[in-house]
Amino acid sequence: MTDRTFVIIKPDAVRRGLVGVVLARYESKGLEIVTLDWRTIDAAMADQHYAEHVAQPWYPALREFITSGPLLAVVLEGPAAIEAVRTMNGATNGVAAAPGSIRGDYSLSNRENLVHASDSPHSAEREIALWFPGLS
Ligand code: ADP
Ligand code: MG
Repeated sequence: MTDRTFVIIKPDAVRRGLVGVVLARYESKGLEIVTLDWRTIDAAMADQHYAEHVAQPWYPALREFITSGPLLAVVLEGPAAIEAVRTMNGATNGVAAAPGSIRGDYSLSNRENLVHASDSPHSAEREIALWFPGLS
């Protein structure tokens, strides 16, 4: 089963020079890069992307972070890509994320955790449409 998932290589990864390392992991796994684009997003786009979290007490800090600089928006495709990429990214909090995962290897934060990935087919469809409305 081939599917598509939406990934963000977040501003902390860009600042830390980890874009290549992270993208290489996805490519080495066998996932295909369908499209990618540098973006610097505003608060309104952050609120749309993180619609499920806007009421959280920690959301203002997340919004500050995700709008703080350039990020790389990516669509990946492959067998069970949604599940595969979530597994590769690891648990949300870098402290708890398993070694061998991207967050487990490179993050000690529950906010600046390097990557985002869609968590379900519904999320993937919504996020790809939001970020890449022209993509067929
Ligand atoms: P995930 O990215 O693993 O799907 P969530 O959807 O729960 O995690 O949260 C979205 C993003 O919000 C996280 O990746 C992280 O950057 C940030 N975040 C989540 N929980 C917290 C928290 N308790 N404090 C600060 N930032 C958080
Ligand atoms: Mg999430």
